[in-house]
Amino acid sequence: MGHPVQSPSIIYRFGLFEADLGSRELRKHGIRVRLQEKPFQVLIELLRRPGASERLETDQVLDGIEVPLARVREGSPLHLDLRLEALVDGIHASGPVDGEVTIECRRCLKLFTRPLRVELDDVFLYQGESIDDEGYRVEGESIDLEPVVRDALMLALPLNPLCTEGCKGLCSTCGADLNEADCGHSQDPVDIRWTGLEQLRRTLEE
Ligand SMILES: [Zn+2]
Ligand SMILES: [Zn+2]
Repeated sequence: MGHPVQSPSIIYRFGLFEADLGSRELRKHGIRVRLQEKPFQVLIELLRRPGASERLETDQVLDGIEVPLARVREGSPLHLDLRLEALVDGIHASGPVDGEVTIECRRCLKLFTRPLRVELDDVFLYQGESIDDEGYRVEGESIDLEPVVRDALMLALPLNPLCTEGCKGLCSTCGADLNEADCGHSQDPVDIRWTGLEQLRRTLEE
């Protein structure tokens, strides 16, 4: 006896919720709610119930988070473990977001991956509450976590990364990785004010 064939669907866990993306519905205590189209958008049942809170745990992929030498690894999921709490004037979202970052060492150019954790601590204000330009809003019945997660990760990416604190970099003459071998070339920094004289000296010697 085989099981009936079912169309494939993805089950996401949102704290107490369970979402079947195949049917785009969300179930909680037997109640069905339609799921938002955007994966980072979360329906809020806490609206206008100050003091109520809920846990939101989910894995989501968010591409395109990068600075010149570091990026959130393409296609690798971010793990969100958040607490959503209703305030009088909005929703407070807090908790860690964990991901993996691909980094290029600025000295030896080696690629490596490293875990990255950011702690969210943001408030989504209801419409009508005064807000500055940086603020986030509750939109209709939901909050969109994507810009919040994106902003936090962008700020946490390293701008001048090193593979190790003492990375020796590459040989300026032959390009060898000095962490792996000593090619024998001098690595003394050349003072550019003297390079002209140095060239002249070499010319005279020839
Ligand atoms: Zn390095
Ligand atoms: Zn060399």
